[in-house]
Amino acid sequence: MQTLTILGSTGSIGVSTLDVMARHPDKFSVFALAGHSQVDKLAEQCHQFQSRYAVVADEQRAQALRPLLGSLKTEILFGEQALIDVATASEVTGVMCAIVGAAGLPSALAAAQSGKTIYLANKETLVVSGSLFMETARQHGAKVLPIDSEHNAIFQVLPQNYSGSLKKHGINAIILTASGGSFLHTDLADLPHITPAQAVKHPNWSMGQKISVDSSTMMNKGLELIEAHWLFNCPPEQLEVVIHPQSIIHSMVRYADGSVLAQMGLPDMRTPIAYCLGLPERIDSGVGALDFSKIAALTFQEPDFARYPCLKLAYDAMYAGGSAPCVLNAANEVAVAAFLRGQIRFTDIARVVEHSLAKHVSGSLNSIDDLLALDKQIRAEAEQFSGSLKSLQNTKL
Ligand code: NDP
Ligand code: MG
Repeated sequence: MQTLTILGSTGSIGVSTLDVMARHPDKFSVFALAGHSQVDKLAEQCHQFQSRYAVVADEQRAQALRPLLGSLKTEILFGEQALIDVATASEVTGVMCAIVGAAGLPSALAAAQSGKTIYLANKETLVVSGSLFMETARQHGAKVLPIDSEHNAIFQVLPQNYSGSLKKHGINAIILTASGGSFLHTDLADLPHITPAQAVKHPNWSMGQKISVDSSTMMNKGLELIEAHWLFNCPPEQLEVVIHPQSIIHSMVRYADGSVLAQMGLPDMRTPIAYCLGLPERIDSGVGALDFSKIAALTFQEPDFARYPCLKLAYDAMYAGGSAPCVLNAANEVAVAAFLRGQIRFTDIARVVEHSLAKHVSGSLNSIDDLLALDKQIRAEAEQFSGSLKSLQNTKL
């Protein structure tokens, strides 16, 4: 029996995780559920899973949650330290890290320091602190299992005894597939007028707002390149991206003998979640069978940097290394939030990220405190630049 903490339980990945767990009550029990603002949803989850702890953002939400729990014995906690406490408690065997953004970093790192099995959905952790996080996990014997569908696919088709050396295992490249998002065929001239409502609608996947916007700019694939670089110790030049609009092949590994191994399935995050939760067994995820008679074609094309400047910026940050990915991520989080608020245009997201990267001199950062300080500084600068873009637009109008 595994005892799990779900960080980000009220989000898209959190809900899919609980759906898989509910199918196997003999295998999994819930220790803690952590949401942030959605108190009603969290209360429902606590009732269903009889969670020992529930974590919310602040005291006000903790007070709002109390009456919703009725006679449940669930203890309510709030704030950032509470996320760390429920991720590191001795009863916990595994932690689903499914908070969105760099906000998920301290708790994921704490879980690594405690040697937990980490189900890692929060890709921003690896983008911001890849070296530190992987080294911490190694030192403390924490297993890091990739939930992100591409990385999960790669994990499934790598040799079982993969040691972190592509060369040793006769691997020439890791190929990430990308859907291309909602605007693969949109006229480039129309991109500045994309609305938040259009950008959060993904053609194949149902996901949270931030990652849906990231998919449409392909920043998501950029973040995933950096994620793959750290997870699989893959040199940047051996990472490839190909657009595959049907999202059936979730990623591939190219071997030296000419073989390419791919993992396929319907686009539903319960498959990678079930794969990681069930290891070493394959368990039911609730995902339907892939029916090849219904798939007209599997197609592939090169990504175009004119359409997806964020992907180019992420490549640049990955090659620059050091603190550049942390800058890329912080600026992107600010820009996506500003776009969702209607403050900047869709095409301004790349401008904000480019501006932050251009201003920053990349260096090496060795501690979580250094990384969080840089993250904070870049956010402040990116907010200011986003504000100036808004006033520029207003002047033009
Ligand atoms: P959602 O926006 O759906 O959910 C985010 C979760 O994090 C919610 O539970 C939210 O709580 C909580 N949260 C938000 N801000 C904070 C904060 N500051 N502190 C603590 N908790 C917070 O996101 P997704 O589930 O889509 O994504 C989660 C992570 O998984 C992301 O890193 C994403 O890149 C990654 N991922 C997601 C995939 C998907 O299919 N959705 C696929 C691959 C990776 P509340 O809602 O209660 O406010
Ligand atoms: Mg992905």
